[in-house]
Amino acid sequence: MNTHVHWIPTRSRTEAAEDATELFRNTYNTNPAGCWVAPGRVNLIGEHVDYAQGISLPFALSQVTAVAAAPREDTLVRITSISGDNTLQTEVDLKDVGPKNPANWSGYIVGTIWALAEAGVVPLRGYDMALVSDVPLGAGLSSSAALECCVAVAACDLQEATAEKDILAKACMRAENEVVGASTGGLDQQISLKGEDGHALAIDFRDNSSYQVPFDMEGHGLAILVVDTNAPHELADGQYASRRAVIDGVSEKFGPLRDQENLNPDQWADENPDPSGTLDAEAWRKKVRARVAHVQSEIARTANAIEELKRGDMQAFGNSMCASHASLRDDYEVSCPELNMVVDTAMAQGALGARMTGGGFGGSAIALVKKADIEKIAQAIADAFAEANFRDPRVAVAIPAAGAQRVEV
Ligand code: ADP
Ligand code: MG
Repeated sequence: MNTHVHWIPTRSRTEAAEDATELFRNTYNTNPAGCWVAPGRVNLIGEHVDYAQGISLPFALSQVTAVAAAPREDTLVRITSISGDNTLQTEVDLKDVGPKNPANWSGYIVGTIWALAEAGVVPLRGYDMALVSDVPLGAGLSSSAALECCVAVAACDLQEATAEKDILAKACMRAENEVVGASTGGLDQQISLKGEDGHALAIDFRDNSSYQVPFDMEGHGLAILVVDTNAPHELADGQYASRRAVIDGVSEKFGPLRDQENLNPDQWADENPDPSGTLDAEAWRKKVRARVAHVQSEIARTANAIEELKRGDMQAFGNSMCASHASLRDDYEVSCPELNMVVDTAMAQGALGARMTGGGFGGSAIALVKKADIEKIAQAIADAFAEANFRDPRVAVAIPAAGAQRVEV
């Protein structure tokens, strides 16, 4: 078979910024005061542990969301946003923004401005905004954090406000958690703000500390292939919440999972029976044990993987990626046939490691591959998807890039 391979378009941040500026001029018939970008991300390892005081190792993508903006005298936010074939337009008064309002796409934007104002970073002042995004929406590459973070840095610059990146990250999280009402543990916002060229970011969610880890795939003759499975994932929301309820509950009873050796969560399971009412006591105990096992093993695995990366042992790092995927698939049960197919196909074609990345139930997977094998593996994945009658996947080579920044146009 030789199915057509769909590549996610890649272009420079300056081009994205020029596009946003052009859109601003066409929409508001005047020039913006500036243009800001923020990237999507992939997480190399450390999945579903950001809400459990774990460790993650994401890097920021070269693909960004760009916003051209100008401040207003009132509290109105006017937004035009283009992503792919979709053009969205709305107006929101910041005085109306708060928990669950507006709980739609504009909530990520006005929620960020509202949360920054609540934190005393910027005044409650409106903007005209034009946005374009090269981060595919809902593909597990964190278009939501890219959107929040470019708006956050734009608002700060335009109000001549300075704030620590951690403060900005918190405001972005509030927009997503409280205003839109979507769950997020904070990984995406941190990397979108703190990314650096050629580096991954080791984040320790116990104290929110982080440090840069050189991530030079070129030097090893390797690359990270990212595959957006394009799989439908309607179930994702409730599934995230149910996993989280178990981990939050067990942590509350026994303390942070990271510190518990030989933890047996049976007692918690007995006191908190299966909320769906489908599993009997023994089956539910087994399920809770598996959920805890994922979080505990993933935290330990990520700590090891960071060391493997630092000493340049890329095969060991690849093995850790595969072990992470198996744990997410079997113990945490957040994978899906499409994600498993990317991983299995990449491994069969000689990848050093592969895993789902992001929340799961669709979204994207990554593979650590020899540079010479990029085309071959992308082709094999496209063929396997066609054979299985899955939707067409989209692929890109993921390049570790800088975090949110202003771009001169
Ligand atoms: P991901 O962050 O992995 O892309 P999410 O479900 O967290 O997936 O966020 C996707 C949602 O974020 C979209 O459905 C849309 O509501 C919103 N969004 C992201 N980027 C944009 C954008 N540039 N313009 C408008 N809405 C956006
Ligand atoms: Mg998101």
